[in-house]
Amino acid sequence: MNTSFVLRNAKLITEEEIDIVIEHGKIIEIAHAGSGKGQKIHDCNGIYVSSGWIDLHVHAFPEVEPYGDEIDEIGIKTGVTTIVDAGSCGADRISDLVASKSQSKTNLFAFLNISRIGLKRTDELSDLEWINKRKIIESIREYKDTIVGLKARISKSVVGKNGIEPLRMAQKLSRESHLPLMVHIGSSPPVIEEVVSLLEKDDIITHFLNGKANNLFDKDGRPLQALTDAVERGVHLDVGHGTASFSFKVAEMAKRNNIKFHTISTDIYRMNRENGPVFNMAHTLTKFLYLGYPLEEVIAAVTSTPANWLKKPELGRIKTGDTANLSLFRVKKEPVTLTDSEKDKRIAKRKIEPMGVVVNGEIITY
Ligand SMILES: [Zn+2]
Repeated sequence: MNTSFVLRNAKLITEEEIDIVIEHGKIIEIAHAGSGKGQKIHDCNGIYVSSGWIDLHVHAFPEVEPYGDEIDEIGIKTGVTTIVDAGSCGADRISDLVASKSQSKTNLFAFLNISRIGLKRTDELSDLEWINKRKIIESIREYKDTIVGLKARISKSVVGKNGIEPLRMAQKLSRESHLPLMVHIGSSPPVIEEVVSLLEKDDIITHFLNGKANNLFDKDGRPLQALTDAVERGVHLDVGHGTASFSFKVAEMAKRNNIKFHTISTDIYRMNRENGPVFNMAHTLTKFLYLGYPLEEVIAAVTSTPANWLKKPELGRIKTGDTANLSLFRVKKEPVTLTDSEKDKRIAKRKIEPMGVVVNGEIITY
């Protein structure tokens, strides 16, 4: 990475064209379009550049089934430079996830599953013995550069007969460790009001647009009081599309009622990447363009907003002196069929297509 290169005539989200000069892994200059100097020129005519996309909910531990995948398959090969593994591992295997960072290029952070077994089983909170406080604290201490929060999946098939108790334990651990919680929501019990009312500022509800019976909207399509109260407290709303957790109908209800996503994440793993309905981040972003959100808001939901949540603002901006993590993409006027988790379809007129990334100063184009 000793050579310098220029992204020539790249378009910012504001449509302004610029040159970005990168040397020794860092952005060294943001120049007028056409004026940047470097050893290699990459023509970015008609291509947008943003800070590198951040996917706040993925499954990047290939060994677990069904919720597993390879880091770079869901990262730099799809326009995403930073992924956050959402609880694939608990205390038992977090060391292996951290070790796998050295074999991949995508930046990786993780939510530690409060269950020590992680997603080795999909009912990981059905036995409270698997929530081991000492091991959790040890893991957080040892891997503080990777662990950005705790994960608890609070739905019927995960918690079994334990109801709300795992969430209460998670919340206590979160307070003691000063780490926010990401909570997966789904089928009841526990009922959704009980789950959401326990969340605090900076905690994350993932799957907030799911179309299951226990979702966040009433039968008339209005947001539950518990949801609007949570948003007011500063609880963060994350999409976490996944195989089963994104409904166009619910997303349309949310838009009508001005309940806005903070972050757009995929909940991607091998199966929903290969067979849909997720496929990749760009396809997920296309769904929000289709819903009528401006490109600027859609891109902010995978750049500045998750970067700020992570308290790593440098990951969400394009600035001289920063390590270069950038995403290149275009918006193509071409009809595309979009399918949600309920097999509901919509046809969009435009789609977002990833064209490449710069990851820690290295350019990869598709
Ligand atoms: Zn997930």
